Amino acid sequence: MPGWPWLALSQLAVALLWWRLGWSWGLPALLLSHLAFVLPVFMPRATVYAPALARLPVAERAVWLTIDDGPSADTAAILDALERHGARATFWWVGERARARPDLVAEIRRRGHGIGNHSQTHPSARFWALGPQAMAAEVGQAQQALAGPAGAPPRWFRSVVGHTNPFLAAPLREHGLARVVWGARGYDAVDGDPVRVLQRIGRGLQPGAIVLLHEGAAHGRSAEIVEAALCLLDERGFATLEPPQ
Ligand SMILES: [Zn+2]
Repeated sequence: MPGWPWLALSQLAVALLWWRLGWSWGLPALLLSHLAFVLPVFMPRATVYAPALARLPVAERAVWLTIDDGPSADTAAILDALERHGARATFWWVGERARARPDLVAEIRRRGHGIGNHSQTHPSARFWALGPQAMAAEVGQAQQALAGPAGAPPRWFRSVVGHTNPFLAAPLREHGLARVVWGARGYDAVDGDPVRVLQRIGRGLQPGAIVLLHEGAAHGRSAEIVEAALCLLDERGFATLEPPQ
């Protein structure tokens, strides 16, 4: 686990500093060293606790469209929008939601889109605090739920609200999962205004960008926003691509 040796070393350094220079150096060093381990938990792109793929290494004008939090009442409309635009996407689904809709898991695969693991229960408020067993269960149970009739489990994982802690790397390794973050997002999980959302996404568009969108948001405009994002990609001449599953 990447964090532990650094934690041990940093605390040894703090102890040395405190011993040689006194508490006025030792105490701030102690607090700073702990901040250095706490902050990355809440920084989606930090790689202290698990590696992260933040963009695809391609030069062509293409992005990876990633849609979080389904399946939902928006899934069917989003699938139709993707088809109209000839676009591909990866759906990052929650295991227990997918268990209730096995037909949709099969439908996604039939239409040639990908499925990523977005945890079993989507515990937004406490994902960052999960211990080793609970974390392994969130990852492993979702793998089973999302394997679908073909039995192929996902290869990609996305952290709940982007958080990561020292207990995530082990289950990711066990299931051969790569953690995927993003380079373009519009905060559409909370903001239902397509104009504002697309302005934010537009700023992050570049070859290989990973675009983050959502379905099933409480504002009820997710399908409309995905459609608008697809129009934006068309206008700017971006195709969609998926890394091989
Ligand atoms: Zn989510």
